[in-house]
Amino acid sequence: MGTWSGKCFCGAVEVTVTGEPMAMGYCHCESCRHWSAGPVNAFTLWPPAAVKVTRGEDNVGTYKKTEQSHRKWCKSCGGHVYTDHPSLGFKDVFAAIIPDMPFKPAVHVNYGEAVLHVRDGLPKQKDFPAEMGGSGELLPE
Ligand SMILES: [Zn+2]
Ligand SMILES: [Zn+2]
Repeated sequence: MGTWSGKCFCGAVEVTVTGEPMAMGYCHCESCRHWSAGPVNAFTLWPPAAVKVTRGEDNVGTYKKTEQSHRKWCKSCGGHVYTDHPSLGFKDVFAAIIPDMPFKPAVHVNYGEAVLHVRDGLPKQKDFPAEMGGSGELLPE
């Protein structure tokens, strides 16, 4: 339990997260890879009220390709900050944005779409865990 702060690439936007993340891990889906321009996205999921923009709120842009994901980024530097998933009831603050928070990944999701295979011994969900509405199917590393 604690409060950690983070900021966008240029620092115009600052956020804090408070409490315990609901889940931490890595997502390999095509959307995460395409938007982040990287092979994998490290996520930390929070109840919406645990995430606060503490600086530069009017500098936060939103892009919604679908209603499920409201992607938040800084209008000055283009740096990504977090994604709001209102229909799922959590916000994903990218682990790289809050480097001081102890990141303890427990799962890989959407490993069926992976382009970078990771041999870290953590469970590899083909899509999402069953309790999150996915198949719950596990894949080999
Ligand atoms: Zn910025
Ligand atoms: Zn993803």
